[in-house]
Amino acid sequence: MSASLATVAYIGAIILFIMSLGGLSNPETARRGNFLGMAGMALAVVATVLGPRVTAAGIPWIVGALVVGGAIGVIAAKKVQMTQMPELVALMHSLVGLAACLVGFASYVDTSTVFPTPVEKTIHEVEIYVGILIGAVTFSGSIVAFGKLSGRIGGKPLLLPGRHLLNLVGLLVVVYFGYVFLQSHDVNAGMLPLLVMTVIALLFGIHMVMAIGGADMPVVVSMLNSYSGWAAAATGFMLSNDLLIVTGALVGSSGAILSYIMCRAMNRNFISVIAGGFGGGAPAPAGAGGAAQPAGEVVPVSAAETAELLKEAKSVIIVPGYGMAVAQAQHTVFEITKLLRDRGVNIRFGIHPVAGRMPGHMNVLLAEAKVPYDIVLEMDEINEDFPATDVTMVIGANDIVNPAAQDDPTSPIAGMPVLEVWKAKTSIVMKRSMASGYAGVDNPLFYKENNRMLFGDAKKMLDEVLAALRA
Ligand code: NDP
Repeated sequence: MSASLATVAYIGAIILFIMSLGGLSNPETARRGNFLGMAGMALAVVATVLGPRVTAAGIPWIVGALVVGGAIGVIAAKKVQMTQMPELVALMHSLVGLAACLVGFASYVDTSTVFPTPVEKTIHEVEIYVGILIGAVTFSGSIVAFGKLSGRIGGKPLLLPGRHLLNLVGLLVVVYFGYVFLQSHDVNAGMLPLLVMTVIALLFGIHMVMAIGGADMPVVVSMLNSYSGWAAAATGFMLSNDLLIVTGALVGSSGAILSYIMCRAMNRNFISVIAGGFGGGAPAPAGAGGAAQPAGEVVPVSAAETAELLKEAKSVIIVPGYGMAVAQAQHTVFEITKLLRDRGVNIRFGIHPVAGRMPGHMNVLLAEAKVPYDIVLEMDEINEDFPATDVTMVIGANDIVNPAAQDDPTSPIAGMPVLEVWKAKTSIVMKRSMASGYAGVDNPLFYKENNRMLFGDAKKMLDEVLAALRA
């Protein structure tokens, strides 16, 4: 393929990526957005492999890597549970970071490139240094995020004494070694500062994510998504690949916008998220997934009683959370919704921006179950409607409906906007036990007078509710 044809293909791929992002902004067009993204990536890969910069000798290596990587991707996609998606995404971000590091070192030891001027050589070395720096932070940070999301590492923030000072010293050392690196005249002399910086960047990535508490993890996930984009863009600079630069910048900036949106949704300041320490610390009574401290009497209900409450209701709001994903209850939720709608009940969904374990988690599940988009509303659109609602059904949600976020200034999630389900005439919380949610915080909702607890696996209980409704 000629260089000009490859450039045209690259421009086509860039346009497809931008259209893909546009499609992903709305559930109704998200499927098309995904297809456009896949088409763009296929075009990009073909144009690169057949492009002028790949020699015939390199093709078998690339095809081999494509087969191995593609096979791992297909197996992972088939095996992974919907609830493990956030961990998988974190792991994939780590691969982008690792790739940026490896490409950086490879570019540095590759002495075949001849630079016409010393300035161009210096620019290339700055690209390498910055690329490896971003890549290493993304790599280790994403591995820790993977550990936290999968429960292998506890959700509590690790707060080392003088951690801000530690970060500042790390930054100064990185800047100093950057200077030493640029002054080095050959690869042997430059390798040491490069390695030292890589180790510091890896430690910084670990420290940064370890310091962030459970309640801030949604922001970290989108922030690492943004970092992975910048790491890819840096790789594009190292390889002089315009497509990679643009694609990386698209991912980097959309991840940054998402982080900002998540921060706003959680009433958090981006800088204080990065500074760490929020959520999961004292005075939370339990660690992530642990049991909450009793704070009053709870009123359990049966599936049949829940069905009776639903039969009498004129308006119902369903609030799904992580537990609905665990139980895979979305299809039964759809059946119940359909049945109640057919009986004239005004039934709608309230979606919290950080419900589940990844942005849009609940929207994806509800769309999969074919719940109509027009009854799925954002938190801000529905929060005022709870007082005029007969029944709210909280399905496997916990932190996002915790009144302590509003009432208790000492709560680790104080200030986080929540869905005010307790303002409805009756709220029913479906979960298996009294255990706390991701942030490890006790939930006073369970003890409210107008609240009922339907204990059990959400899918099993909803199947029973559906059967009782049909009876
Ligand atoms: P939570 O983690 O607060 O609560 C989920 C609840 O679901 C648990 O209390 C659990 O209780 C229950 N549950 C689990 N399995 C089942 C099941 N099979 N059947 C019924 N219930 C079940 O989830 P929310 O969605 O309310 O809140 C999301 C939390 O995750 C927030 O703290 C958010 O900050 C965090 N987070 C969000 C991310 C995002 O991007 N959306 C990313 C990372 C973290 P029990 O064990 O008793 O059944």
